[in-house]
Amino acid sequence: MKCHDPCGACCIAPEITSALPNMPDGKPAGIRCVNLDSENRCMEYEKRPKVCREFNPTEYTCGDSFEDALRLISELEAATKS
Ligand code: SF4
Repeated sequence: MKCHDPCGACCIAPEITSALPNMPDGKPAGIRCVNLDSENRCMEYEKRPKVCREFNPTEYTCGDSFEDALRLISELEAATKS
């Protein structure tokens, strides 16, 4: 499936432990990546790191909307947190 556009839920909901542009320590779950613009598009899209490039949208993670994606990814994050 294609990403919702705009979305950015995968740049907000999950914890990212790898370095991101302008966030060298990654980011906690539920915190916006600083590289998202006001429309939730990545301002570093061409330079986004491997961790971002490897996320593929699925119905399981993204549902039918940004709101679905934020909820589903947050639920997965909580369920897999050790
Ligand atoms: S660098 Fe871009 S694609 Fe990666 S989490 Fe941040 S906004 Fe999203």
